[in-house]
Amino acid sequence: MLTLLKLLKDGRFHSGQALGVALGISRSAVWKQLQHLETELNLKIHKVRGRGYQLAAPLVLLDEQLIASRDSASWSAMVFDSIDSTNAEALRAIERGQPAPFMVLAERQTAGRGRRGRKWVSPFGENLYYSLVLRIDGGMRQLEGLSLVVGLAVLQALRELGIAEAGLKWPNDVLVGKRKIAGILLELVGDPADVCHVVLGVGINANMRTADEVDQDWTSIQLETGRSVDRNLLVGLLNAKLQAYLARHRDSGFAAIQPEWERCHLWQGRQVSLIAGAQQVDGVVLGIDQQGALRLQVGNVEKHFSGGELSLRLRDDS
Ligand code: ATP
Repeated sequence: MLTLLKLLKDGRFHSGQALGVALGISRSAVWKQLQHLETELNLKIHKVRGRGYQLAAPLVLLDEQLIASRDSASWSAMVFDSIDSTNAEALRAIERGQPAPFMVLAERQTAGRGRRGRKWVSPFGENLYYSLVLRIDGGMRQLEGLSLVVGLAVLQALRELGIAEAGLKWPNDVLVGKRKIAGILLELVGDPADVCHVVLGVGINANMRTADEVDQDWTSIQLETGRSVDRNLLVGLLNAKLQAYLARHRDSGFAAIQPEWERCHLWQGRQVSLIAGAQQVDGVVLGIDQQGALRLQVGNVEKHFSGGELSLRLRDDS
């Protein structure tokens, strides 16, 4: 099915006969595969009598060689047509003993993950589904604020693409106004106090234009800039930003990055509710501390909050 897609991805018309010859299958087998592309991968295909078949929009697929040629960090990449979740595959690769650093990328995720078992909507060929695995042997300090640092790297990549109003929401969302454009999910295996591996999972909405299943406001690079983005180049740009921020974090710790993170925080000074399960704390966002914990003014007291179970919401009266 994907070989057929590779023939169609130029966005030109191809006759059923030519496709059949190229694939060594009958015209009716071509027809079946085309239907699969539409139903399985949700791709739109124009069928015009006398001309043949054409993808409604040309598609640039992920290309391992192109990614390697643009990757200043020299992180090796595993690219999948389809995977349950790039983070899950990264964790399996760590288990198999694959040496870090390495990246896992996919054209689509069938079970893309958000925090606390939430789903990350991951249609075929449209967005970036990316996991970078690092080996950490410098103890807890190298993990402090790490997911916030990844957020900054993603944000700077988006700003470089022209999305000047993009900003951060604690702990790890990237928004344009109220609309989510990227999400980050870190997962850890091993002993954080000794040697461990961390999976830096990043989902960036690149060329997505419709997505009924996303149940909150969202946007994409294409919707913001009016141009489609080549995801192979986006990987190179993200890697360059990550490489620079990770080096700063390793050398100087999160404290050196904290002021920049706060400057990019969209909700500084806003009235928020912090939600942890059934509990809720209302307060005003003061910023983050040097470990990346949220600083809230609750009544007359400053309180600090951290942990993967926390969600921040703007108060209606904010
Ligand atoms: P929190 O404030 O706790 O981070 P969240 O709703 O942003 O809450 P995440 O776990 O970060 O939670 O992300 C998962 C949520 O993001 C999903 O529940 C869905 O609402 C939304 N979502 C899923 N896929 C996408 C996508 N491709 N683009 C934007 N938003 C998405």
